[in-house]
Amino acid sequence: MIKDKLTIRDAMILTAGPSISQKEIDYVLDAVKTGWNFHWSDYLRKFEKALAAYEGTEHALAVSHGTAALHLALAVFGVGPGDEVIVPDLTYVACSNVVRYLGAKPVFADVDRETWCLDPKSVEKLITSKTKAIMPVWMYGNAPDMDAIMAIAKKHKLYVIEDSCPALGTTYKNKKAGSIGDVGAFSFQGAKIAVMGEGGGFVTNRKDFMDQAMSLYDHGRDENRQFWAKQFGYMYELSGVQAALGLAQVERIEELVAKKRQIFKWYFDRLSSIKYFSLNKELPGVCSNMWMPSIVLHKDAPISRDDLRVELKKRMIDTRPFFFPITMFPIYEDKQAAVRNPNAYYLSANGLNLPSGFERTEEDVDYIASHIKDILGV
Ligand SMILES: *Cc1c(COP(=O)(O)O)cnc(C)c1O
Repeated sequence: MIKDKLTIRDAMILTAGPSISQKEIDYVLDAVKTGWNFHWSDYLRKFEKALAAYEGTEHALAVSHGTAALHLALAVFGVGPGDEVIVPDLTYVACSNVVRYLGAKPVFADVDRETWCLDPKSVEKLITSKTKAIMPVWMYGNAPDMDAIMAIAKKHKLYVIEDSCPALGTTYKNKKAGSIGDVGAFSFQGAKIAVMGEGGGFVTNRKDFMDQAMSLYDHGRDENRQFWAKQFGYMYELSGVQAALGLAQVERIEELVAKKRQIFKWYFDRLSSIKYFSLNKELPGVCSNMWMPSIVLHKDAPISRDDLRVELKKRMIDTRPFFFPITMFPIYEDKQAAVRNPNAYYLSANGLNLPSGFERTEEDVDYIASHIKDILGV
Protein backbone atom coordinates (compact mmCIF):
# COMPACT_ATOMS: atom_id res chain seq x y z
CA MET A 1 0.00 0.00 0.00
CA ILE A 2 1.34 3.42 -0.89
CA LYS A 3 0.97 5.88 1.97
CA ASP A 4 -0.19 9.40 1.32
CA LYS A 5 2.76 11.75 1.31
CA LEU A 6 2.78 13.82 4.46
CA THR A 7 2.63 17.56 4.03
CA ILE A 8 5.49 19.73 5.24
CA ARG A 9 4.81 22.99 7.00
CA ASP A 10 6.33 26.37 6.12
CA ALA A 11 7.29 27.47 9.62
CA MET A 12 9.75 25.68 11.91
CA ILE A 13 8.15 24.19 15.05
CA LEU A 14 10.49 25.14 17.88
CA THR A 15 11.12 23.10 21.03
CA ALA A 16 10.12 25.71 23.63
CA GLY A 17 8.05 28.86 24.10
CA PRO A 18 6.46 30.44 27.19
CA SER A 19 2.84 31.07 28.15
CA ILE A 20 2.38 34.83 28.58
CA SER A 21 -1.11 35.97 29.59
CA GLN A 22 -2.57 39.36 30.46
CA LYS A 23 -1.55 38.73 34.11
CA GLU A 24 2.15 38.72 33.21
CA ILE A 25 1.74 41.86 31.12
CA ASP A 26 -0.18 43.67 33.89
CA TYR A 27 2.33 42.77 36.62
CA VAL A 28 5.38 43.70 34.53
CA LEU A 29 3.84 46.99 33.43
CA ASP A 30 2.99 47.78 37.03
CA ALA A 31 6.53 46.89 38.17
CA VAL A 32 8.06 49.13 35.50
CA LYS A 33 5.83 52.04 36.51
CA THR A 34 5.85 51.68 40.28
CA GLY A 35 8.71 49.39 41.33
CA TRP A 36 11.24 52.01 42.40
CA ASN A 37 12.41 53.77 45.56
CA PHE A 38 10.21 52.63 48.48
CA HIS A 39 8.64 50.01 46.20
CA TRP A 40 11.77 48.55 44.58
CA SER A 41 11.37 45.17 46.30
CA ASP A 42 7.55 44.79 46.33
CA TYR A 43 7.43 42.24 43.52
CA LEU A 44 10.57 40.47 44.74
CA ARG A 45 9.01 39.81 48.16
CA LYS A 46 5.64 38.86 46.58
CA PHE A 47 7.39 36.43 44.26
CA GLU A 48 9.31 34.87 47.17
CA LYS A 49 6.13 34.55 49.23
CA ALA A 50 4.30 32.87 46.37
CA LEU A 51 7.18 30.48 45.66
CA ALA A 52 7.57 29.49 49.33
CA ALA A 53 3.79 29.02 49.68
CA TYR A 54 3.65 26.85 46.58
CA GLU A 55 6.64 24.79 47.66
CA GLY A 56 5.52 24.55 51.28
CA THR A 57 8.97 25.68 52.45
CA GLU A 58 9.71 28.19 55.19
CA HIS A 59 11.85 30.39 52.97
CA ALA A 60 12.38 31.38 49.34
CA LEU A 61 14.92 33.78 47.89
CA ALA A 62 14.68 35.32 44.41
CA VAL A 63 18.04 35.05 42.67
CA SER A 64 19.45 35.88 39.24
CA HIS A 65 19.75 32.33 37.83
CA GLY A 66 19.18 28.71 38.69
CA THR A 67 22.96 28.42 38.63
CA ALA A 68 23.15 31.13 41.33
CA ALA A 69 20.78 29.14 43.56
CA LEU A 70 22.92 26.01 43.12
CA HIS A 71 26.11 27.92 43.89
CA LEU A 72 24.58 29.58 46.97
CA ALA A 73 23.35 26.22 48.25
CA LEU A 74 26.83 24.71 48.18
CA ALA A 75 28.25 27.89 49.71
CA VAL A 76 25.79 27.81 52.64
CA PHE A 77 26.73 24.16 53.23
CA GLY A 78 30.30 25.40 53.61
CA VAL A 79 31.60 23.45 50.59
CA GLY A 80 35.20 24.40 49.79
CA PRO A 81 38.63 23.14 48.73
CA GLY A 82 39.20 19.49 49.66
CA ASP A 83 35.46 18.67 49.55
CA GLU A 84 33.71 16.45 47.04
CA VAL A 85 30.16 16.86 45.73
CA ILE A 86 28.43 14.02 43.90
CA VAL A 87 26.58 15.15 40.76
CA PRO A 88 25.08 13.13 37.91
CA ASP A 89 27.26 12.77 34.83
CA LEU A 90 24.24 13.49 32.60
CA THR A 91 23.04 17.01 33.39
CA TYR A 92 23.57 20.64 32.51
CA VAL A 93 27.18 21.73 33.07
CA ALA A 94 26.04 24.30 35.68
CA CYS A 95 25.88 21.44 38.20
CA SER A 96 29.61 20.75 38.20
CA ASN A 97 30.69 24.33 37.49
CA VAL A 98 29.18 25.54 40.77
CA VAL A 99 31.20 22.91 42.64
CA ARG A 100 34.35 24.24 40.96
CA TYR A 101 33.43 27.88 41.74
CA LEU A 102 34.06 26.92 45.39
CA GLY A 103 37.32 25.08 44.73
CA ALA A 104 35.71 21.70 45.48
CA LYS A 105 35.72 18.58 43.31
CA PRO A 106 32.66 17.30 41.42
CA VAL A 107 32.42 13.50 41.39
CA PHE A 108 30.29 12.13 38.57
CA ALA A 109 27.75 9.37 39.24
CA ASP A 110 25.66 7.47 36.72
CA VAL A 111 21.97 8.07 36.11
CA ASP A 112 19.04 5.65 36.04
CA ARG A 113 18.14 4.33 32.60
CA GLU A 114 14.39 4.87 33.13
CA THR A 115 14.16 8.18 35.00
CA TRP A 116 17.35 9.74 33.49
CA CYS A 117 18.08 11.05 37.02
CA LEU A 118 20.85 10.35 39.55
CA ASP A 119 21.12 6.63 40.36
CA PRO A 120 21.33 6.10 44.16
CA LYS A 121 23.33 2.86 43.71
CA SER A 122 25.99 4.72 41.75
CA VAL A 123 26.09 7.49 44.39
CA GLU A 124 26.73 5.07 47.23
CA LYS A 125 29.84 3.66 45.48
CA LEU A 126 31.40 7.12 45.17
CA ILE A 127 31.11 8.32 48.77
CA THR A 128 34.44 9.01 50.49
CA SER A 129 35.49 10.80 53.67
CA LYS A 130 35.66 13.99 51.54
CA THR A 131 32.07 13.83 50.28
CA LYS A 132 30.07 16.79 51.59
CA ALA A 133 26.92 16.94 49.46
CA ILE A 134 24.82 15.17 46.84
CA MET A 135 23.08 16.95 43.97
CA PRO A 136 20.12 15.00 42.54
CA VAL A 137 18.86 16.60 39.31
CA TRP A 138 15.21 16.54 38.18
CA MET A 139 16.04 15.88 34.53
CA TYR A 140 13.56 17.52 32.15
CA GLY A 141 11.03 17.56 35.01
CA ASN A 142 11.41 13.83 35.80
CA ALA A 143 11.84 12.83 39.45
CA PRO A 144 14.88 11.10 40.92
CA ASP A 145 14.43 8.34 43.53
CA MET A 146 14.47 10.89 46.36
CA ASP A 147 13.68 8.43 49.18
CA ALA A 148 16.80 6.41 48.39
CA ILE A 149 18.94 9.54 47.95
CA MET A 150 17.75 11.07 51.24
CA ALA A 151 18.44 7.77 53.04
CA ILE A 152 22.02 7.72 51.71
CA ALA A 153 22.48 11.36 52.73
CA LYS A 154 21.20 10.67 56.22
CA LYS A 155 23.36 7.59 56.65
CA HIS A 156 26.55 9.41 55.62
CA LYS A 157 25.61 12.85 57.04
CA LEU A 158 25.66 14.62 53.68
CA TYR A 159 23.81 17.71 52.52
CA VAL A 160 21.36 17.46 49.63
CA ILE A 161 20.95 20.26 47.09
CA GLU A 162 18.12 19.43 44.74
CA ASP A 163 18.72 20.73 41.25
CA SER A 164 15.01 21.10 40.65
CA CYS A 165 15.74 23.90 38.16
CA PRO A 166 13.54 22.37 35.43
CA ALA A 167 10.96 20.79 37.74
CA LEU A 168 8.73 23.49 39.21
CA GLY A 169 5.38 21.72 39.59
CA THR A 170 6.66 18.13 39.69
CA THR A 171 5.60 16.22 42.79
CA TYR A 172 7.18 13.18 44.45
CA LYS A 173 4.95 11.35 46.93
CA ASN A 174 2.96 14.57 47.38
CA LYS A 175 6.08 16.62 48.06
CA LYS A 176 7.09 19.37 45.68
CA ALA A 177 10.33 19.08 43.72
CA GLY A 178 12.89 21.22 45.54
CA SER A 179 11.26 20.93 48.97
CA ILE A 180 12.75 17.56 49.98
CA GLY A 181 16.50 18.19 50.38
CA ASP A 182 18.30 20.86 52.44
CA VAL A 183 17.97 23.38 49.61
CA GLY A 184 16.08 23.39 46.31
CA ALA A 185 17.11 25.38 43.24
CA PHE A 186 14.81 26.61 40.46
CA SER A 187 15.45 28.26 37.12
CA PHE A 188 13.12 30.68 35.36
CA GLN A 189 15.25 30.92 32.22
CA GLY A 190 13.22 31.54 29.06
CA ALA A 191 12.83 27.92 27.97
CA LYS A 192 11.71 26.58 31.36
CA ILE A 193 8.09 25.81 32.33
CA ALA A 194 7.81 29.17 34.17
CA VAL A 195 9.92 32.00 32.81
CA MET A 196 11.45 35.36 33.73
CA GLY A 197 13.89 35.50 30.80
CA GLU A 198 16.65 34.81 33.28
CA GLY A 199 15.98 34.17 36.94
CA GLY A 200 16.14 31.70 39.78
CA GLY A 201 14.74 30.63 43.13
CA PHE A 202 16.43 29.26 46.26
CA VAL A 203 14.15 27.45 48.71
CA THR A 204 14.87 25.96 52.13
CA ASN A 205 13.36 25.25 55.54
CA ARG A 206 16.58 26.23 57.35
CA LYS A 207 16.72 29.80 58.64
CA ASP A 208 20.52 29.70 59.00
CA PHE A 209 20.85 28.71 55.33
CA MET A 210 18.42 31.46 54.28
CA ASP A 211 20.25 34.12 56.32
CA GLN A 212 23.61 33.10 54.93
CA ALA A 213 22.26 33.02 51.33
CA MET A 214 20.84 36.54 51.81
CA SER A 215 24.26 37.80 52.81
CA LEU A 216 26.22 35.91 50.15
CA TYR A 217 23.94 36.94 47.27
CA ASP A 218 24.59 40.63 47.97
CA HIS A 219 28.41 40.72 48.25
CA GLY A 220 28.48 39.50 51.84
CA ARG A 221 26.31 42.27 53.22
CA ASP A 222 25.59 42.77 56.89
CA GLU A 223 21.85 43.33 57.30
CA ASN A 224 22.43 45.51 60.34
CA ARG A 225 25.00 47.88 58.86
CA GLN A 226 24.42 49.44 55.45
CA PHE A 227 27.14 48.75 52.84
CA TRP A 228 29.23 46.80 55.36
CA ALA A 229 30.74 43.63 53.83
CA LYS A 230 30.93 41.14 56.69
CA GLN A 231 32.24 38.36 54.41
CA PHE A 232 33.25 37.61 50.84
CA GLY A 233 30.20 37.27 48.56
CA TYR A 234 28.60 37.43 45.12
CA MET A 235 26.01 39.50 43.25
CA TYR A 236 23.05 37.25 42.53
CA GLU A 237 20.10 39.59 43.09
CA LEU A 238 17.11 39.60 40.76
CA SER A 239 15.28 42.72 39.55
CA GLY A 240 11.71 43.60 40.53
CA VAL A 241 10.62 43.65 36.88
CA GLN A 242 11.76 40.04 36.45
CA ALA A 243 10.10 39.09 39.73
CA ALA A 244 6.80 40.59 38.50
CA LEU A 245 6.90 38.22 35.53
CA GLY A 246 7.91 35.34 37.80
CA LEU A 247 5.07 36.07 40.24
CA ALA A 248 2.47 35.78 37.50
CA GLN A 249 4.02 32.52 36.30
CA VAL A 250 4.12 31.00 39.79
CA GLU A 251 0.49 32.03 40.35
CA ARG A 252 -0.37 30.18 37.13
CA ILE A 253 1.86 27.15 37.72
CA GLU A 254 -0.95 24.59 38.02
CA GLU A 255 -2.35 25.75 34.69
CA LEU A 256 1.13 25.57 33.12
CA VAL A 257 1.73 22.04 34.43
CA ALA A 258 -1.70 20.93 33.17
CA LYS A 259 -0.89 22.19 29.67
CA LYS A 260 2.53 20.49 29.63
CA ARG A 261 0.96 17.24 30.79
CA GLN A 262 -1.69 17.57 28.08
CA ILE A 263 1.02 17.99 25.42
CA PHE A 264 2.83 14.93 26.80
CA LYS A 265 -0.39 12.91 26.71
CA TRP A 266 -0.93 13.84 23.06
CA TYR A 267 2.53 12.45 22.33
CA PHE A 268 2.03 9.41 24.56
CA ASP A 269 -1.24 8.46 22.89
CA ARG A 270 0.42 8.50 19.48
CA LEU A 271 3.91 7.20 20.22
CA SER A 272 3.95 4.96 23.29
CA SER A 273 3.24 1.78 21.32
CA ILE A 274 6.29 2.22 19.06
CA LYS A 275 8.97 -0.26 20.10
CA TYR A 276 11.97 1.72 18.82
CA PHE A 277 12.05 4.24 21.68
CA SER A 278 10.80 5.06 25.17
CA LEU A 279 9.25 8.27 26.48
CA ASN A 280 9.51 10.07 29.87
CA LYS A 281 8.69 7.69 32.67
CA GLU A 282 6.94 8.53 35.94
CA LEU A 283 7.80 6.23 38.84
CA PRO A 284 4.89 5.31 41.17
CA GLY A 285 4.00 8.31 43.33
CA VAL A 286 5.45 10.82 40.87
CA CYS A 287 3.54 13.47 38.93
CA SER A 288 5.94 15.15 36.49
CA ASN A 289 5.54 18.69 35.18
CA MET A 290 6.47 17.16 31.79
CA TRP A 291 8.63 20.16 31.03
CA MET A 292 10.23 18.36 28.09
CA PRO A 293 8.45 15.40 26.48
CA SER A 294 11.37 13.36 25.16
CA ILE A 295 12.25 10.09 23.49
CA VAL A 296 15.23 7.79 23.90
CA LEU A 297 15.93 5.57 20.90
CA HIS A 298 16.56 1.89 21.59
CA LYS A 299 19.52 -0.01 20.17
CA ASP A 300 17.39 -1.63 17.44
CA ALA A 301 15.99 1.67 16.11
CA PRO A 302 16.42 1.91 12.31
CA ILE A 303 17.95 5.41 12.51
CA SER A 304 20.43 7.18 14.78
CA ARG A 305 19.36 10.02 17.06
CA ASP A 306 21.41 12.54 15.07
CA ASP A 307 19.99 11.40 11.72
CA LEU A 308 16.47 11.46 13.15
CA ARG A 309 17.04 15.07 14.22
CA VAL A 310 18.26 15.96 10.69
CA GLU A 311 15.22 14.29 9.09
CA LEU A 312 12.83 16.04 11.48
CA LYS A 313 14.44 19.39 10.77
CA LYS A 314 13.87 18.87 7.02
CA ARG A 315 10.21 18.50 7.97
CA MET A 316 10.33 21.78 9.93
CA ILE A 317 10.42 20.12 13.36
CA ASP A 318 13.15 21.36 15.68
CA THR A 319 14.37 19.11 18.51
CA ARG A 320 17.02 19.30 21.25
CA PRO A 321 19.61 16.59 21.85
CA PHE A 322 20.00 15.38 25.45
CA PHE A 323 22.86 16.96 27.43
CA PHE A 324 26.40 15.65 26.98
CA PRO A 325 27.91 13.67 29.84
CA ILE A 326 29.96 16.29 31.68
CA THR A 327 32.94 13.92 31.76
CA MET A 328 33.17 14.33 27.95
CA PHE A 329 34.08 18.01 28.19
CA PRO A 330 37.82 18.82 28.08
CA ILE A 331 37.49 20.81 31.34
CA TYR A 332 36.18 17.72 33.17
CA GLU A 333 37.56 14.96 30.96
CA ASP A 334 37.53 11.46 32.43
CA LYS A 335 38.18 8.73 29.87
CA GLN A 336 37.06 5.97 32.24
CA ALA A 337 33.66 7.55 32.86
CA ALA A 338 32.00 6.02 29.78
CA VAL A 339 32.56 2.58 31.28
CA ARG A 340 31.63 3.64 34.81
CA ASN A 341 28.52 5.62 33.77
CA PRO A 342 27.05 3.63 30.85
CA ASN A 343 23.50 4.99 31.24
CA ALA A 344 24.65 8.62 31.08
CA TYR A 345 26.55 7.89 27.88
CA TYR A 346 23.73 5.84 26.34
CA LEU A 347 21.00 8.37 27.09
CA SER A 348 23.13 11.28 25.94
CA ALA A 349 23.71 9.70 22.54
CA ASN A 350 20.15 8.49 22.03
CA GLY A 351 17.83 11.02 23.69
CA LEU A 352 16.06 13.98 22.19
CA ASN A 353 13.55 16.52 23.47
CA LEU A 354 10.43 17.01 21.34
CA PRO A 355 8.72 20.36 20.74
CA SER A 356 6.55 21.28 23.73
CA GLY A 357 6.18 25.06 23.74
CA PHE A 358 2.93 26.32 25.22
CA GLU A 359 1.48 27.24 21.83
CA ARG A 360 1.54 23.60 20.68
CA THR A 361 -1.84 22.15 19.74
CA GLU A 362 -3.03 18.57 19.36
CA GLU A 363 -2.84 19.10 15.60
CA ASP A 364 0.85 20.07 15.92
CA VAL A 365 1.61 16.95 17.97
CA ASP A 366 -0.28 14.87 15.41
CA TYR A 367 1.91 16.37 12.69
CA ILE A 368 5.12 15.70 14.64
CA ALA A 369 4.13 12.15 15.62
CA SER A 370 3.12 11.33 12.03
CA HIS A 371 6.50 12.45 10.76
CA ILE A 372 8.38 10.49 13.43
CA LYS A 373 6.45 7.36 12.45
CA ASP A 374 7.03 8.03 8.75
CA ILE A 375 10.80 8.39 9.28
CA LEU A 376 10.93 5.20 11.36
CA GLY A 377 8.78 3.35 8.82
CA VAL A 378 6.08 2.33 11.31
C1 LIG B 1 17.95 25.21 33.43
C2 LIG B 1 18.80 24.34 34.26
C3 LIG B 1 19.82 24.88 35.09
C4 LIG B 1 20.30 26.31 35.14
O1 LIG B 1 19.46 27.33 35.06
P1 LIG B 1 19.95 28.83 34.77
O2 LIG B 1 18.82 29.63 35.28
O3 LIG B 1 20.13 28.93 33.30
O4 LIG B 1 21.21 29.07 35.52
C5 LIG B 1 20.51 24.01 35.91
N1 LIG B 1 20.25 22.70 35.91
C6 LIG B 1 19.32 22.14 35.13
C7 LIG B 1 19.09 20.66 35.19
C8 LIG B 1 18.57 22.93 34.27
O5 LIG B 1 17.65 22.34 33.48
